[in-house]
Amino acid sequence: MKVHQTRLSTGITRTKEFERKRLASFAVNVGTKCGHDCLYCSTGALLRMHRSFKEAGQNPFGHGYAIVDPETPGRVAADAQRIRHRGMVQICTVVDAWAPEAHEYRLGRKCLESILAESGWTVRILTKNAAVAEDFDLLEKHRDRVLIGLSITGTADKGRILGIIEPHASPIEQRMATLREARARGLRTYGMLCPLLPGIADAPEQIDELVQLVAQCGAEEVFIEPINPRGPALRVTQEALFTEGYTREAAAIGQIRRRDQWSRYVLELIRHVQTSMQRHSDLGKLRFLLYPTGLTPGDLSEIHQNDTGVIWLGKD
Ligand code: SF4
Repeated sequence: MKVHQTRLSTGITRTKEFERKRLASFAVNVGTKCGHDCLYCSTGALLRMHRSFKEAGQNPFGHGYAIVDPETPGRVAADAQRIRHRGMVQICTVVDAWAPEAHEYRLGRKCLESILAESGWTVRILTKNAAVAEDFDLLEKHRDRVLIGLSITGTADKGRILGIIEPHASPIEQRMATLREARARGLRTYGMLCPLLPGIADAPEQIDELVQLVAQCGAEEVFIEPINPRGPALRVTQEALFTEGYTREAAAIGQIRRRDQWSRYVLELIRHVQTSMQRHSDLGKLRFLLYPTGLTPGDLSEIHQNDTGVIWLGKD
């Protein structure tokens, strides 16, 4: 993993998009390329024009590198003091503050300290790294003001496959154990089951297992989002799985590269998740984040007939 440094200009920023998702009103990001290097990551598509890629001489859609800004906590501290209208901040929205290149500088902890030192702020942590547990002592001191979520992207028996497509994130069993530890220490948690990939994590029994896990961990809400088909992410994921001999899973990913099949995958995912949440948790806690662009008219209309738990996103 080649690590580049950059200088960003922002600390705490407003985010209308994450507000619509009911995740947070503000965002902190500690870089522009996350070293977990998930093959399906959509950050490259979102930030492809950012100068940091050109400065690093890297392709925004490439792999094997990270871009981090170790100075981020200083700007976050200044913004945390300066901003008057305060609310929930998500750490992070486009990278991961506990990924190895960020954790080396303890960026997650330092950003948390800067924000929590000021009253009026609450924090939502989202990570795929068990290293966040090193900061649970800090969270315990502010337990009412921090929500913690670890992205859970499949059941433990899919660990090898997830290790291919999320090569530098903590193994899935460690992420699950960290969420359980958070619960055991009395921290506030939420569920982030995202993405649930076809052929890997979208079967009803798999969804049941994941929903039960986050329910047992005291999840206050459960967020689920289908894989984003933008950019080359699906093709890259499919190719990697095929190369490693997971031909059935590769074929399932390949299928949803077709619009009608992606749309069907989303519809079926919503129905499985609604059933599972009703059975094992509380349907009122479901937050299924959905951009309707890409859905076929037939599937769109079918989803509208029962969209309990769906948060509709996009311009309309
Ligand atoms: S952890 Fe999130 S931000 Fe980091 S590479 Fe994976 S999907 Fe992208």
